[in-house]
Amino acid sequence: MIVFDLCCSAGDHRFEAWFASSESFADQQERGLIACPVCGDADVRKAVMAPRVGAKSNQMTSGARAPAPVADDSGPGPEIVRKLLADLAAKQAEMLPRSRWVGREFADAARAMHEGRAAEDLIHGQASPEEAQALRDDGIAAMPLLVPFVPPEAAN
Ligand SMILES: [Zn+2]
Repeated sequence: MIVFDLCCSAGDHRFEAWFASSESFADQQERGLIACPVCGDADVRKAVMAPRVGAKSNQMTSGARAPAPVADDSGPGPEIVRKLLADLAAKQAEMLPRSRWVGREFADAARAMHEGRAAEDLIHGQASPEEAQALRDDGIAAMPLLVPFVPPEAAN
């Protein structure tokens, strides 16, 4: 017996079903014998499986012997995640040159701007978790840098 993650086309409901074999699934699917337990739709297909890291590169090299991977055409894949991270890194790289490094003074500087004691400025620096929490508690906008950042002091 093998289990397939299936999903209906009417409502994109996901469910699991057991079959004697892959052929048995294909046969039952062909004849419309598999119905979505949620909405009864018989137009059922295999759901996108979790990416199997590693297995894929094997399939690339083993060529025709490997069966085509199941429905690899939707859902966020590793490529999309990588692209998102690259976008974030690019945004951060774009922002940092315009931002003033204030190091350990970050919490104080952010608070001073918030309270009008200092001119509004784009700053970045270091804050302890407690300081970051205190800023949030006071409604001061601060967010962690999304990409690991080397402080200027450490880079020199
Ligand atoms: Zn359904």
